[in-house]
Amino acid sequence: MPHRSSVAQPWRMQASRYRLAGNECVICKNVDFPPRRICSKCGGHDLVEKQLAGEGIIETFTILHTAPEGFEGTTPYAIGLIRLKEGPVITARLVGDFEKIGIGKSVKAVFRKVYEHGEGGLIHYGFKFEIVE
Ligand SMILES: [Zn+2]
Repeated sequence: MPHRSSVAQPWRMQASRYRLAGNECVICKNVDFPPRRICSKCGGHDLVEKQLAGEGIIETFTILHTAPEGFEGTTPYAIGLIRLKEGPVITARLVGDFEKIGIGKSVKAVFRKVYEHGEGGLIHYGFKFEIVE
């Protein structure tokens, strides 16, 4: 008997992440990502799905030399605070040459493996951001 629920759940939960979809408030046009049930700006409940371009600017970043469990072997790595074109600010991994990473640099979302549970284990995918040359 396969453990269907344990496999299906992360996929369903991350569906919005795959498509990098947030939502937009009908009233004030504020965009939230990840999607929320209530607008973070005006508290409105009338929200529609909004596909995000996956483009943004690095507001700040940090290079980490120790990794949480599951990320071992990937250090050092960079985490950035990215302001998306549509407005939301998100925290995400930055990939590529550290020397190219800088505040104010343009980035775009790329789909990458995030981490893996052991050998042959569950692989998680998600968006990372790379510098736009
Ligand atoms: Zn609103």
